[in-house]
Amino acid sequence: MKIVLLGPPGAGKGTQAAMISGRFEIPHISTGEIFRTNVHEGTPLGKEAKSYIDQGLLVPDDLTMNMVLDRLNDPDTENGYILDGFPRTMVQAIMFDEALEQRNESIDIVLDIDVEDEVIVERMSGRRICPDCGETYHIEHLPPKIHGICNLCGSELIVREDDRPETVLKRLSVYREKTEPLVDYYAGRNILTKIDGDRDSLEVFREIESILEA
Ligand code: ADP
Ligand code: ADP
Ligand code: ZN
Repeated sequence: MKIVLLGPPGAGKGTQAAMISGRFEIPHISTGEIFRTNVHEGTPLGKEAKSYIDQGLLVPDDLTMNMVLDRLNDPDTENGYILDGFPRTMVQAIMFDEALEQRNESIDIVLDIDVEDEVIVERMSGRRICPDCGETYHIEHLPPKIHGICNLCGSELIVREDDRPETVLKRLSVYREKTEPLVDYYAGRNILTKIDGDRDSLEVFREIESILEA
């Protein structure tokens, strides 16, 4: 099963993708997370991507495409995958379709997780991540067992550089301009399902689970 998750920053894509990945045993591929790992490790890709990410801008399409196509060559993608944060521009969507077509493959379903702007701002201001393993928390909705410490690896949690309020607003406007057109693009192909993301994350997951089982 090949799944694409669409939705504004903070909609809960990463949270849902992790649950879907566990339930359906397919890898969770987050382009944002791959970029952050590269930045953290100081790789050439990370060095190129960092300034775009910190400003709330998108990383250029060619860099992003190469990275994703490379990742999709890994053997764990054989039975499908869930893409979180890709594609994010029309150029990426079209290039991705072409790449899939060459392999006689196609996207099965696009889930568009929708939340209001006010909810987004609240979610991002409370988001904390683990710099070492990438696990995501929320200070109120999804707190770690020990305050400020990652449940999985014991590292100290941080605020993402691009989750500061000014950058969040920039990312939202980039989303509306560059990514939202993909909603119509996929709806036109009848592979889009809208999900109300402004509910408890488990409730959102139950709905997604039943859609994917059908
Ligand atoms: P969120 O989940 O909050 O929307 P992500 O972790 O998906 O954020 O992405 C963080 C940043 O990484 C983005 O703001 C952008 O700079 C970069 N990025 C992630 N995915 C892409 C992509 N498909 N194309 C271009 N840039 C991307
Ligand atoms: P995205 O990947 O779309 O940017 P995340 O999954 O990282 O979104 O979620 C953004 C923040 O909101 C995180 O701090 C996360 O713990 C929290 N969160 C995710 N889903 C929900 C939900 N349904 N209700 C409340 N908070 C949520
Ligand atoms: Zn961790």
